[in-house]
Amino acid sequence: MDRRRIRELAERELAALKERTPGSQRMLTRASRVLPGGVPSSFHWPIYLDRAEGARVWDVDGNDYLDFHNGFGAMVQGHAHPAIGAAVAARYARGTHFGGPAEDAIVVAEELVRRFGLPHWRFTNSGTESTMAAVRLARALTGREHVVTIAGAYHGHHDAALAGRGFTEGIPRSTRDLVHTVAFNDAAAMEQALAEHRPACVLMEAATTHRGVVPPAPGYLQAVRELTERGGALLVLDEVKTGLTIAPGGATGRFGLEPDIVTLAKSLGGGLPSGAVGMSEAVARLVEDGQVPVFGTYNGHPLGMAAARASLLEVLTPAAYERFESLSERFPPGAVALGAKGCMPGSADDPELAELFWLWGMNRGILMTRGRGLEWTLSVAHTEEDVDRYVETFAELSR
Ligand code: PMP
Repeated sequence: MDRRRIRELAERELAALKERTPGSQRMLTRASRVLPGGVPSSFHWPIYLDRAEGARVWDVDGNDYLDFHNGFGAMVQGHAHPAIGAAVAARYARGTHFGGPAEDAIVVAEELVRRFGLPHWRFTNSGTESTMAAVRLARALTGREHVVTIAGAYHGHHDAALAGRGFTEGIPRSTRDLVHTVAFNDAAAMEQALAEHRPACVLMEAATTHRGVVPPAPGYLQAVRELTERGGALLVLDEVKTGLTIAPGGATGRFGLEPDIVTLAKSLGGGLPSGAVGMSEAVARLVEDGQVPVFGTYNGHPLGMAAARASLLEVLTPAAYERFESLSERFPPGAVALGAKGCMPGSADDPELAELFWLWGMNRGILMTRGRGLEWTLSVAHTEEDVDRYVETFAELSR
């Protein structure tokens, strides 16, 4: 499609979207007075949502969408799953927050040990908190300060993570100087960065998800594991997105990896804020003896743990992962899919085209993550027909 056509269509689709969402427009005007940009998070876009069930979400104007955004990839359980709802309701009736441990945290940790192989776990409330704790633990264990990450990757919004993503405003120079990036799937670059910076850790995803889904090249992850071990750096595998979506034990399980630390969040809590840090024996010792505390008022929050327990034991069963694989087969040839996550490679490379895809989907009842091109997160609630509708909607655009 030529540039002019993309712009023409995007303009037309934007006008149509505004026309269909007067309630959202009114809320945006009202919100702009009290919420910077009219939204609660800088990642949000101003279509105000009202409710969701299964694979569907409704905006405040009553328009319904098939949800392939799925709460930034968190809702692989589908919205308002009855098993999670029942667990949360039962927990709520018995109190939601103690500032003390409750049994569900043990059950969830045991299940994570089983799935990921790492022997010890602590809970947080987000991916940001998980990667923040992971970096601190790696620094403490190694006595080093530098961190190597993958160029373009997103690991949350604490200083070191944002520095790796290239943000500068509000981030101390001293922190920025400690974070270095290398290209994904380039073992030679990784080897060089490890030699040059002697980092505390490599913080990375096993399959990158910041622009589409890019699987690891054969042998790459094994090389990184060997290089980090040899170079005295920890391997922190950020599984905030991949963790409970691409296989029961995430990338760790799917690719047979042995990271020192795994970070989880998003789909762990089945729609409630949650996060986790999985650790090797050596790392866990730092926490146990109090050298590196991992704390937080809401860590191991009973509601989140009840939701995570129901999600892990009743919803994200082996059958769920088989279902993601079989649903993924319905996407067109050339699609890249890992479990519940996938994309059409390259579809996010052109920002104007990516925006057109988003607008086109919105006006035809398909909700995707804005700016990410043709990307999806499936849930256990998606049907074959839902996936076919996604495919057909965008096939129409190329006709
Ligand atoms: N790591 C990765 C790989 C992520 O994709 C994200 C969020 N998109 C985070 C960390 C941060 O998670 P949160 O938004 O829960 O802080």
